[in-house]
Amino acid sequence: MLQKEKETGLQAVSNAMVLAATIQKEMTSRDTLTKKDRSPVTIADFAVQALICKILSHHFPHLPIVGEEDSLAIKKPENRELFTKINHYLKKCGTALDEKEICDCIDLGGAEPDGTFWTLDPIDGTKGFLRGEQFAIALALIREGQVCLGILGCPNLGASGTLFWATENGGCSKMAAGTGKTEAVQVSAASDSRQMKFVESYESSHSDKDTQLEISRRLAIKNPPEQMDSQVKYGIVAAGTAEIYLRIPNPSTPDYREKIWDHAAGSLIVEQAGGQVSDIEGKKLDFSAGKTLRHNRGILATNNKIHQRVLDIIAELAAKKK
Ligand code: AMP
Ligand code: MG
Repeated sequence: MLQKEKETGLQAVSNAMVLAATIQKEMTSRDTLTKKDRSPVTIADFAVQALICKILSHHFPHLPIVGEEDSLAIKKPENRELFTKINHYLKKCGTALDEKEICDCIDLGGAEPDGTFWTLDPIDGTKGFLRGEQFAIALALIREGQVCLGILGCPNLGASGTLFWATENGGCSKMAAGTGKTEAVQVSAASDSRQMKFVESYESSHSDKDTQLEISRRLAIKNPPEQMDSQVKYGIVAAGTAEIYLRIPNPSTPDYREKIWDHAAGSLIVEQAGGQVSDIEGKKLDFSAGKTLRHNRGILATNNKIHQRVLDIIAELAAKKK
């Protein structure tokens, strides 16, 4: 099932991993813009979205794509030089597109969520990408609110990068990029919380680190939470390197809602590796409500064994605050 979608998606994300890694090595601060919400966007975000949308729309012309980026910013006259760079890197990776084609391909990702659609975060963790650290290329297929295929490219995880993928009821697999060797992925079997690894966002503004630290203390976890950007956190929970990924909403951004492209691929990957994913009240993530997870608050992804205990501690702390 979903064989063609999986093969096409894996090919697209593999190509994009090479493209993004090349740009990360060579780019300068002039290759970055600031978006309306003040978050950064780089030539890699645009180049990867253009490349993946081009491949997906060629093979699946009728499947809408809900991507994070659009071409408005790069069309502004003051940003024209970015085209030259995007064109240069796409060409280097085997795809020659002129300015209009670059914009058209990026804007193929401008669909609204409805029925069956792809969702794409071309560079998840742009801030990590800019620091030369972890980031992910995240692609998922959502059918009537259910994530049925998730693909996560993590160019800086492992010696040559790691590609994870999962299908609904099909388990989770990974491959060291470029090797062609596929392995089944299983979450950690650990049940003693003291031995567990707890991961959270690198960026302080993206979650409530004080509360997360308090929770890791209550679980008697030896080491403090480890910080890491992007959905790579889901990848390492799936692969058994960490047991807990917690994202409690930051009290200073109470209106922030999680975006579907930031969680669709990663959540299926953890679930299909035998883990559990919910919001911080224990509710299943609801991918049927548009571009955001507006019915959910925060994220908890675990190896399953520790899930309820973490939810209980979150509830206890929340009750104390009232
Ligand atoms: P991470 O590295 O796990 O924090 O994930 C990066 C993602 O955090 C970005 O793609 C943003 O969409 C998202 N993000 C941005 N601002 C916030 C916020 N205030 N709270 C939670 N997530 C955010
Ligand atoms: Mg993102």
